[in-house]
Amino acid sequence: MSTKNNIKNCQSLLDKDLITSEELTGLEKVAQKFSVSISKSVLENTSSPDVLKQYVPAIEELDVKEDELDDPIGDSIHSPVKGIVHRYPDRVLFKPLHVCEVYCRFCFRRENVGRGKEILSNEEIDSAIQYIEKTPEIFEVIFSGGDPFVLAPEKLAKLVKRISDIEHVQVIRFHTRLPIVSPEKVSAGLLEALESEKAVFIVVHCNSHEEIHDGVSLALKKLQKEGIPILSQSVLLKGVNDCSEKLEQLFRTLVKNRVKPYYLHHLDKAEGTSHFRVDLTSGQELMKELRGKVSGLCQANYVIDVPGGFGKVPVGHNYVSQDGKEFFIEDWQGCQHKYFD
Ligand SMILES: *Cc1c(COP(=O)(O)O)cnc(C)c1O
Ligand code: SF4
Repeated sequence: MSTKNNIKNCQSLLDKDLITSEELTGLEKVAQKFSVSISKSVLENTSSPDVLKQYVPAIEELDVKEDELDDPIGDSIHSPVKGIVHRYPDRVLFKPLHVCEVYCRFCFRRENVGRGKEILSNEEIDSAIQYIEKTPEIFEVIFSGGDPFVLAPEKLAKLVKRISDIEHVQVIRFHTRLPIVSPEKVSAGLLEALESEKAVFIVVHCNSHEEIHDGVSLALKKLQKEGIPILSQSVLLKGVNDCSEKLEQLFRTLVKNRVKPYYLHHLDKAEGTSHFRVDLTSGQELMKELRGKVSGLCQANYVIDVPGGFGKVPVGHNYVSQDGKEFFIEDWQGCQHKYFD
């Protein structure tokens, strides 16, 4: 990874008064280990330090806890060829590049994203696509990365075309943060690249209602006008969105923008991320507080990606308990009700 590039990024944080010059020396060490980048749009449109802390490096990142892993969700053990992660039978992640618009300080792939870990070679792309072609169980291909929307539109268009042409692939999904952090890059070229005969879905990564300013709303609308449904995934982060009011605002703002909240991720145990961690009991309590208070449309599924590569599991509050043949069901206000089958 290019250290020079990373330090330049730190310098721009200094210029914006996001860090002090005393902090800079320590942060250069962080930047040597994990990439740093904050997009122009984020710098211009975000005033809240709570939101910015998703991108501004912190010295705590050098504090790697014993249970933190360089591959927290076990991508590598499920990678049959470079650029493909095949964990569930019917869908694969396709990761043509490892570059992002921003580098989130809590990223679960932080060991593997950044400049210098750029892009699959043409041969590697061919092998990844061949794997999808010869695996008829694959119903859905999920473009991930890195951020697939960082690819030049012509490159992305070619990949979308090749994947669309595979008969057994019915759904193409994109996991991206670009419409949130660099909405001005949702260009006519990008929209064109996403055209496909197959069903196309986008899942945007967004963690705070403050990230959704007018420019972002407009970018989302452009994508929706192409007939593309948009869902969201968020990460539960200490100091960013770990109270029910903030989650409520986040989910309501997404729905107001016709984006369906899909997942709220419990933070993966990536290296140097413990300062963002919210414990599972608190996460479940937050989800319980939201139930009934906001509509079903505004509810996300709270999930943990089981360390070691066992996949995502819903871990929200448990409303049902059982005693022999008798069930006890808790309603949204916390009252227990007996239920028999
Ligand atoms: C998260 C993930 C998916 C997508 O899971 P969904 O529950 O369908 O959103 C697919 N493959 C891998 C390897 C994943 O980590
Ligand atoms: S945009 Fe996604 S992949 Fe890139 S650093 Fe953020 S969380 Fe990681």
